[in-house]
Amino acid sequence: MIIVFKPGAPQNEKDKIRKMLVKEHFQINEIVGTTMTIFGIIGDTTALDPRRITINDCVEKVMRVQEPFKRANRMFHPENTVVDVSGVKIGGKKLAIIAGPCSIETYEQMHTVASAVQEAGATLLRGGAFKPRTSPYSFQGLKEKGLEMLEQAGADYHLPIVTEIMSADKIDEFVGKVDMIQVGARNMQNFELLKELGKTNVPILLKRGLAATIEEWLMSAEYIMSGGNENVVLCERGIRTYETYTRNTLDLSAIPAVKKLSHLPVIVDPSHAAGLWWMVEPLAKAAVAVGADGLMIEVHNDPENAWCDGAQSLKPAKFAALMADLKKIAPIVGREI
Ligand code: PEP
Ligand code: MN
Repeated sequence: MIIVFKPGAPQNEKDKIRKMLVKEHFQINEIVGTTMTIFGIIGDTTALDPRRITINDCVEKVMRVQEPFKRANRMFHPENTVVDVSGVKIGGKKLAIIAGPCSIETYEQMHTVASAVQEAGATLLRGGAFKPRTSPYSFQGLKEKGLEMLEQAGADYHLPIVTEIMSADKIDEFVGKVDMIQVGARNMQNFELLKELGKTNVPILLKRGLAATIEEWLMSAEYIMSGGNENVVLCERGIRTYETYTRNTLDLSAIPAVKKLSHLPVIVDPSHAAGLWWMVEPLAKAAVAVGADGLMIEVHNDPENAWCDGAQSLKPAKFAALMADLKKIAPIVGREI
């Protein structure tokens, strides 16, 4: 961290800041210019709130030279992390393809979709049992009954299952049943939930918040990791912008940015980003091209009558065609399906 003082900042004010920092075991490297003085703070400043320094009127600005996240930071962990989800690796050469309906509806629906996506090459099965809906009057998910249907379909088609958790009181129920726990966009900053998930060792799929910066997203990963659970996979699912044509705006640039900043795997969910089924195919291809470690795609056997997110769901045949195209694209960027 670097402190730049205003020209003519009185010595006693600079000494006050120096004393405070030295008391907290930091070292100060002072650079005195013709008009300005700069303090270079040496030590781990992760927990140091810069506002404690900018509050002093003699300070022009305070700059961080290091990101506030440590465990998620590539600087301290240069090699890519590969997260093992019940035998399926996310972050290695092979792309992870998570597919399935938005919501679990019936036993038949779950089996029809699971069978189709498995046949097309999906590696993990998704389905929501506890749904975070914008309206309290919308379908909220089949809850425990849905979880059972997902478990059954996953077992029948040998696909590890991914489903969303909404509150910490469900963790005990999820552990042992669910192979990967999804934290949805709306809960990305539910810090109490993140802390509790940090105490488990279940792989976590951490979606980017609706309007979260990349740093905020990585800080949420840090919450889980600082509790001891390093099995975190990030998921870009579109962010809110001024554009209303699509449901959200897919931030493809977040993929190379996260890859530079962090060692954690990052996948892309083009379904929730676009909100439009016909846009899922081009966005999925683009995601693979920019280096995503995998995809999460909503697939439904009867999108017109889906209980949730039918407009963005691919029919099984369209999903299979996309997978066939991705098989050709993946090797160009050094990946495989
Ligand atoms: C979902 O995956 O079904 C979902 C609700 O996603 P998000 O949290 O990205 O909106
Ligand atoms: Mn959905």
